[in-house]
Amino acid sequence: MLDTWSKYIVTDVKVEIEQPNIGKWSPYKYGTNEYWLWLEKEFRAWAKEVEEFVRDHRSQDTLDLSVVRVLSKKCKYCGYVYPENDEVPKPDCCLDAMATWDKEAAQELEDIKRKQEELKIEQEKANQQ
Ligand SMILES: [Zn+2]
Repeated sequence: MLDTWSKYIVTDVKVEIEQPNIGKWSPYKYGTNEYWLWLEKEFRAWAKEVEEFVRDHRSQDTLDLSVVRVLSKKCKYCGYVYPENDEVPKPDCCLDAMATWDKEAAQELEDIKRKQEELKIEQEKANQQ
């Protein structure tokens, strides 16, 4: 676990090709969930158009345009958004996130110790037989 302090949010949507500047005509405010969902939909429609254009012009090469969502971790407590696709081993944005992480890390360590102890007991029983 160790990630209840945050959740992944979409912070960008990319097409792996130079695309026209569709984003500036968005009816939604930049950076909102509605904006990213709208942009992804626009890009998918545009990518399909480009694929059809290439097909109509009898290109020998097949073209496959991928629309990629960029995910970032957002802190549930302070709202800080970490850099895109960052693993964030331990949060450092605010005390609440750090405290939650520390608590869960300690719990995880306890669980590992308990499992190791259980395995050791099982092993000893098996050896006695
Ligand atoms: Zn935070």
